[in-house]
Amino acid sequence: MTPSAVPTELIPILAPLASSPGGLPPTGPLVSVLLPGHLSYDKYHPEWGERSACSTVTLVQAAGRTILVDTGLDDARLLAGLEGAGVAPEAVDTVVLTHTHGDHYRSVHLLPRARVVASGPEVVAWRSRGAPDKELLARLQPTVTGLAPGVRLVLTPGHTPGSATVLVAQAGQLVAIAGDAVDSRDFFIRREPSHNAVDPAAERRNFDLFAAIADVIVPGHGHPFRLEHGAPAEELAPPRG
Ligand SMILES: [Zn+2]
Repeated sequence: MTPSAVPTELIPILAPLASSPGGLPPTGPLVSVLLPGHLSYDKYHPEWGERSACSTVTLVQAAGRTILVDTGLDDARLLAGLEGAGVAPEAVDTVVLTHTHGDHYRSVHLLPRARVVASGPEVVAWRSRGAPDKELLARLQPTVTGLAPGVRLVLTPGHTPGSATVLVAQAGQLVAIAGDAVDSRDFFIRREPSHNAVDPAAERRNFDLFAAIADVIVPGHGHPFRLEHGAPAEELAPPRG
């Protein structure tokens, strides 16, 4: 399938803030989910059957930076998502991996100019596992916490030793791009860690953290959803039209 034959799945989360008429151009971060991920088998949706797992891919643009959080492993869906957002693959300057599982990074080969980063503890843990993926080994670097103005990486270990969440703040709204710290809204409602979590107790602490601070959670294998006073509200979907 050619990229343009794949329907767009773009879900806008945050848009830059418009200033007063005739004033400065809109400012602040943009966050859009380019494609919502899915699990290989979602026990809350057995009707979806089995398929290969693919992570959620999220675009963050701030202060002239173009960042992808995870890339997934479906090349056609990623290219369609970038096209839908009007972003050329060469324009992506940074890929932040929430963690180093293949379903979250395999399409990184489509982004030739991007610096590829993860948390320091994740890079150390991944290298100590023997780091079988040579391409990623050549590119993966640890990152500092501050990624861009209003965009931070915070450690949310549990799924893997160095799993991290990208937090994007704007005008009192906080978006948590959580990777597999939250598999989906169904898992968040039940406070259920991912089945392959290295530290399920730490995963449960992450749920409490997100409930306390986030307005929107972008999960690793599902659609983004809003929180109202810590309780999951509606899932966000591509706009109709
Ligand atoms: Zn995953």
